[in-house]
Amino acid sequence: MTKNIITRFAPSPTGLLHVGNIRTALFNYLYAIKNNGKFILRIDDTDSERSTDEFAEQIVSDLKWLGIKIDKIYKQSERIDIYRKYFNQLVEKGFLYECFETQEELDYKRKRLVARRMPPVYDRASLNLSEEKKNQYISEGRKPYWRFKLSGKKNIFHDLVRGEVSVDTSAQSDPVVVREDGGFLYNLPSVIDDIEMGVTNIIRGEDHVTNSGIQVEMFTSLGKDSPVFGHHPLLVDENGDPFSKRNAALSVKGLKEKNFEPMAINSLNTSIGTSIEINSFQSLKEISEILDLSKLGRAPGRFSLDQLMKLNSSQLSILSFEEIKNRLENQNIIASKTLWEIVKNNLNYLSEYSKWDEIINKDIEVENLDYEFLKTASDVLPDEPWDNSTWNLWIDKIKVSTDRKGRDLFLPLRKAITGLDDGPELKELILLIGYDKIKKRLLGK
Ligand code: GLU
Repeated sequence: MTKNIITRFAPSPTGLLHVGNIRTALFNYLYAIKNNGKFILRIDDTDSERSTDEFAEQIVSDLKWLGIKIDKIYKQSERIDIYRKYFNQLVEKGFLYECFETQEELDYKRKRLVARRMPPVYDRASLNLSEEKKNQYISEGRKPYWRFKLSGKKNIFHDLVRGEVSVDTSAQSDPVVVREDGGFLYNLPSVIDDIEMGVTNIIRGEDHVTNSGIQVEMFTSLGKDSPVFGHHPLLVDENGDPFSKRNAALSVKGLKEKNFEPMAINSLNTSIGTSIEINSFQSLKEISEILDLSKLGRAPGRFSLDQLMKLNSSQLSILSFEEIKNRLENQNIIASKTLWEIVKNNLNYLSEYSKWDEIINKDIEVENLDYEFLKTASDVLPDEPWDNSTWNLWIDKIKVSTDRKGRDLFLPLRKAITGLDDGPELKELILLIGYDKIKKRLLGK
């Protein structure tokens, strides 16, 4: 029997989600829906100083806006009792040990090793402390913190993206799992949650490969097999720099405020650095059917805002009228199917629709026009009723009355009629604007 796939996205609510973070969320979600599985959102908020409820709420709303359907949400801060239970088991089994070094002592040890060109791996001095010594430290006011004892072996696992991966834990310090103040650090709660929540696949950035090597041992210490891992290359910005939670402009919230289409973001985010051609996809389902994690390139994917803008505009041209109607009506804009069909290939953002609505239905102000030419054009403007042939008929008449052609003829007309230098076909636009308004605009009234 094949396992029911469960994936999870586990952000820390310490800032806004950016395009790099959501790549992880998207890959997990796409993998889940491709396999008829489930997708969990786990809020990693054990760091109470840096985590906030506002960021956690923003994460949920960002994911929803992108079209990601969350099956279940967990918060680590509500699960501390569960972690304690597992922690006690591991202490009993001898996988965890108490340490008493101060930060200064650890820094000193580390510097000495580095000076001798040795890897700065923790020397396990606390592992062999006598009970007497430990009691002495405690009576001096030191508080113990806890480390997980690594095996020092090479952990080999199959990675959905990278194939066979080997992490040598002898090159790692035993990770601290519980701080002096009793707070849990990332690795152990993550493993416990992955066990408790039945997570089958962990897809995350390649900055987590070493953690995975460590976590494999934690799963084993708890008598469990590890989930299947997949580590994807990270996204970088146009300058090749990693994304940061501080760069609000490329946060999901920021992109939403700039009126980008969620599917344009999703399409670009999941196709850069993959075998998928960069394209506008209509749905996440469609991407899930073609995405193959084993075909991800190894180089970091470069996310460019220019590329996103281009994709945004082609994304708009594939939206159905029903979809945009609902969205515009939610903003109290009445959508016309005829206008939508005319302008949809000329929009960078959906918010520009109302600009065209105004150009058609309201008065516009344009200055510095060539009124002599426009007066001639107005004199030969055909009477209504108008149809698809009106524009050509009018242009032919203007050509006869003036010696203009090409740009010299079309640009002043466009400018007078729409107030702009470019836009959808005038042939179609004039039918919506109508004789009276065009006449007034040509005469500068
Ligand atoms: N909170 C961790 C992070 O944001 C989760 C990593 C993981 O296990 O996926 O990096």
